[in-house]
Amino acid sequence: MIPPNAVYGDPKGVPIQQTMYRDTPAPFNCVYCGSSGLTTVRSKPSLAAAVACMMPFMLGVCFLCPSMDCLWHKYHYCPSCQQKVADFEKSDPCLVVDPPRWKEESFALPA
Ligand SMILES: [Zn+2]
Repeated sequence: MIPPNAVYGDPKGVPIQQTMYRDTPAPFNCVYCGSSGLTTVRSKPSLAAAVACMMPFMLGVCFLCPSMDCLWHKYHYCPSCQQKVADFEKSDPCLVVDPPRWKEESFALPA
């Protein structure tokens, strides 16, 4: 599903055709100020995180702590102009039972 030429991390000036915004800072071209680089990610607790906290078999692992923010919503901002460029919302509480999908890498497709 992910093409072999996908760019992770700093694009270093490579023109980007499309960015997939996930959990990690994403390589992107800002549509507002034209700069390229990595987005700044801010998190917010999601329903999935709250559900995970209440699951008895996850006792002791609280997904509402910032260090366990893999189930949180992620909002991507431009580091240059502070505009929000994308959101990645974990709106599906079923995600809780699918650990491989807890943290997905952001990537971009070069033009
Ligand atoms: Zn910008």
